[in-house]
Amino acid sequence: MSREPILSVEDLHVWFDLSGGSELHAVQGVSFDLRPGERMGLVGESGCGKTTTILAMMGLLPSSASVAGSVSLDGENIMARGEDTVSPHRWKDIAMVFQGAMNAFNPVKTIGSQIVEPMELHGTATGKAARGQTRELLELVGISGDRVNNYPHEFSGGMRQRAAIALALACEPRVLLADEPTTALDVMVQAQILELLVRLTRDLGLSMILVTHDLPVVAQVCDRAAVMYAGEIVEMGAMSTIYHDPRHPYTRMLFGATPDLLGDADVISIPGAPPRLDREIVGCPFAPRCDSAFAPCATVAPRRMETSPGHEAVCHLNDHVVAKEPA
Ligand code: SF4
Repeated sequence: MSREPILSVEDLHVWFDLSGGSELHAVQGVSFDLRPGERMGLVGESGCGKTTTILAMMGLLPSSASVAGSVSLDGENIMARGEDTVSPHRWKDIAMVFQGAMNAFNPVKTIGSQIVEPMELHGTATGKAARGQTRELLELVGISGDRVNNYPHEFSGGMRQRAAIALALACEPRVLLADEPTTALDVMVQAQILELLVRLTRDLGLSMILVTHDLPVVAQVCDRAAVMYAGEIVEMGAMSTIYHDPRHPYTRMLFGATPDLLGDADVISIPGAPPRLDREIVGCPFAPRCDSAFAPCATVAPRRMETSPGHEAVCHLNDHVVAKEPA
């Protein structure tokens, strides 16, 4: 695997204007690299900023959002001039599988015609060639090409999710952003969709960011994980390192808060709720919910420390670590 990142997100911030003149700081300085062929999990509870992060990367946030920072593809900042510089890459280089497959499709158009659309829009294929590629894409995700003229409501939930993945692959992107791709599917279908994503990334050489609240799923699918809380990445590193040596209590509690793929474990949620992001936070944002909080946590914001090569966490428990802070 090449060590040069295909995609670099640097100091990404997103604010939303709220009525009454206040602002919600939904993403607060997120930075990470994604390497060719790598699968990275972006994980955290609802409202932690993970979906906002990938929508910002796609240039798909509503007009009430303000965005700062950079998203570089092969070293070129595709956010440099907003829509002008993002749109040529959207779907063609970076594509997204949306949360809830039904949302990806127009109910009154056939699945096939909707997969052809981005090909024709970007000029990657037209006419008969595009229709042929659509059949191949459906076969690739495990759907008979003969179903190309079916409407979304004629597919089961699992088939719609497979078709949504085929749609995202229509222009042969290099980076796939998958936002909770298994939500609302039963456990066996979830496992099949995750297996499909792993096979596709491996066979097509795709890089993928898997957005999910389910850390054990990330552990099964991804090479690396970035754990988000209150708009920030609070822990990031190789999946095996995070699994065996989590350095943030939130990560540890997330491992215990979600069921495994077979649903054998009980679901235990983390007590309390994430902080409001339209208010100033003093100290560690996780302090009110943390089972390891101690004196400085309520008043001093923890720093990002590299606890071992490539493994970083934002928690006072690592203050003793004599390690360089990441640049
Ligand atoms: Fe818990 Fe303190 Fe670490 Fe925050 S800084 S996660 S409150 S131990």
